[in-house]
Amino acid sequence: MQPDVLSSTITTYNANCKNRVDPEFGRDQKTLVPLDTPPYYAVKLHPTMVNTQGGPRRNSRCQVVDPNGQPIPRLYSAGELGSFWGWMYNGGGNNAECLCTGQIAARNLVAMKPMA
Ligand SMILES: Cc1cc2nc3c(=O)[nH]c(=O)nc-3n(C[C@H](O)[C@H](O)[C@H](O)COP(=O)(O)OP(=O)(O)OC[C@H]3O[C@@H](n4cnc5c(N)ncnc54)[C@H](O)[C@@H]3O)c2cc1C
Repeated sequence: MQPDVLSSTITTYNANCKNRVDPEFGRDQKTLVPLDTPPYYAVKLHPTMVNTQGGPRRNSRCQVVDPNGQPIPRLYSAGELGSFWGWMYNGGGNNAECLCTGQIAARNLVAMKPMA
């Protein structure tokens, strides 16, 4: 960490806590708790993500739906593609979804009539 930058960041943050407003990031004032009781340790963090949540939405039958929520005929999805965790990854929730949606999609798929 760069000590000057860290020190200035903490000073600004603590002032924001005192004023009960966060003009930098718009944090909820309930979360504005001052950092004023050392010792503290600072480490550099990098945003990373091991998953690619999101993609085409599906309904409860695992049919892929269009932007209006209408099923696209004969198109199913399972697993992380179209995951319902797309809006917020819930750590450790993917594999259960893979198993459930795989089974649901496969059941509906094999029950379909072949195309003429
Ligand atoms: C490091 C790490 C740790 C994780 N830990 C957990 C955990 O603890 N608990 C948990 O629940 N989840 C965890 N996950 C997430 C979980 O592993 C995944 O969500 C899950 O494996 C996704 O399975 P999937 O079958 O949907 O997709 P994938 O496993 O990604 O399978 C997709 C397959 O499609 C193939 N493919 C891609 N494009 C094509 C193409 N054009 N043609 C043919 N094949 C194609 C790919 O090669 C791949 O084999 C973790 C993921 C990572 C990366």
